[in-house]
Formats: sequence, C-alpha cells, structure tokens
Amino acid sequence: MTDLSLKDPNNPSGPVQVHNYKIAVDRDLCIGAATCIAVAGKAFELDSEAKAVVLQTADAETIEALIDAARACPVAAITIEDENGNKIFPQ
Ligand code: SF4
Repeated sequence: MTDLSLKDPNNPSGPVQVHNYKIAVDRDLCIGAATCIAVAGKAFELDSEAKAVVLQTADAETIEALIDAARACPVAAITIEDENGNKIFPQ
C-alpha cells in the first residue's frame, strides 16, 4: 500500500461512510479501469494492487458525483447505500 490518505485505513475499499451514504468497492470486481477516478478524483484512487480505494477527501465530492462514478464503472464494482440501507446504486 502506498501513502494514500484513506477514509478508513482498516477498510481501504469500504464500506465507508461518505455524506450520509455507505460507499463500497468490490475489490474482486474492480479491474482498475480508473473511470471512477476520472469522475470523482477526490473520492477514489487506485492502490498498489490497482484496486480502487476510498480517499479521506471523499466528502469533497457531491453524492451526485459519487453516483456518477458508480454508474461509470465498467464492472459496477461500486455500491452506494443510503442511511437506511436502501441501495442507491446499483438499483
Ligand atoms: S471504475 Fe470500477 S473498475 Fe475502474 S477503478 Fe473504479 S471501481 Fe475499479
């Protein structure tokens, strides 16, 4: 692991709380395409295994940008749930 500033060092790819949502990257699905980083670069970065992790600065991205990033992922590796556990993406 590099010196990335992670939202939760114990759960680099989540699930982690961002705004009032729970964001997680399925590391088995993630292929390191980095589309999520292009869309929401303050929230996602690739680690040394080329898997997306959630950054400490993730709250600087709007929830719309986070959902856009999840939508843009070619393998739908990013899941977003609201505070009640309802799936926001994928639906
Ligand atoms: S867009 Fe999807 S596959 Fe690409 S790095 Fe992000 S989570 Fe991984």
